[in-house]
Amino acid sequence: MEINGRTRTCGLIGDPVEHTLSPMIHNTLAGRLGHDLVYVPFPVERGRVAEAVAGAQALHILGLNVTVPYKSEVIACLKEIDPLARDIGAVNTLVQCDGGYKGYNTDMEGLYRAMQSEGIEIAGRDVILLGAGGAARAVAYLCAVKGASKVWLLNRTLEKAQKVADEVNGRVSGTVIRPLRTEEHVRIPEGKYLAIQGTSVGLAPNTEDAVIEDEAFYEKIHTGFDLIYNPWRTKFMRLVEAHGGRAYNGLKMLLYQGIIAYELWNDTHVCEEDALAVYDKLKEHFRQR
Ligand code: NAP
Repeated sequence: MEINGRTRTCGLIGDPVEHTLSPMIHNTLAGRLGHDLVYVPFPVERGRVAEAVAGAQALHILGLNVTVPYKSEVIACLKEIDPLARDIGAVNTLVQCDGGYKGYNTDMEGLYRAMQSEGIEIAGRDVILLGAGGAARAVAYLCAVKGASKVWLLNRTLEKAQKVADEVNGRVSGTVIRPLRTEEHVRIPEGKYLAIQGTSVGLAPNTEDAVIEDEAFYEKIHTGFDLIYNPWRTKFMRLVEAHGGRAYNGLKMLLYQGIIAYELWNDTHVCEEDALAVYDKLKEHFRQR
């Protein structure tokens, strides 16, 4: 693209940002849709996120994505916050508004769109959610809001799972989220479940790790969705498939959280054809590695 005096800038703040795929998502979309926009990663040192947001405002940066470790810390720097992001307690997208930025969380809706595009239903389903960190917390909200009948929330640290369960159950009717320590998975009733893997176990370079190694656990899973996309096929996914289930990685979640951010910044709708063209480009990136 040719950068000129009217080119608008979006970007990503986090630490680290060197390996991000977000520029590929946004710059490809801008090219396909003919928008005069460029997307750049900005590394921000610990303790300087407020300066970064104020600086972005002074520079008329149109919008920012926010990644680890600032998704919660950035909330204090916002002019406004979307109610869903406030409930989740994490913001991954900043959109210019009067006098500053409004914060959104597009991770949750991104996962939902990714699941829809794979034909995975949440409404009325029994779900097992592995993990109770930032991402799993958003997934717990998603399951509750989209009408999962039950969610067994497994985490190494029970207190964190309990906290997420209390918060999410407090916002919906009924006790949807049921926390358990990970090794208590044997207490989950027999049946077939949608399992969402939201821990960081199995992330490259630890590709031979799975948060649960017990083969019997995988007999209970008809569909496994790992939020991790590096490696392309995680150990969790391999175990699900070995026991007859379907398995998906988190690349489409990454794609759609980016697309929703792009839509917010540009007040537009990205059609499925453009979304899938970006997805092909992301997949190609993994094939070449
Ligand atoms: P986080 O807040 O640091 O949470 C990490 C989670 O993993 C916690 O539940 C933690 O358990 C668990 N965990 C870590 N090491 C463990 C171990 N050795 N054994 C058992 N459990 C362990 O991280 P996050 O931001 O939620 O991210 C989680 C994963 O989701 C990451 O792999 C990230 O790449 C992925 N993600 C993907 C997308 C996407 O777009 N596809 C978006 C966001 C995140 P404790 O509570 O016991 O510490």
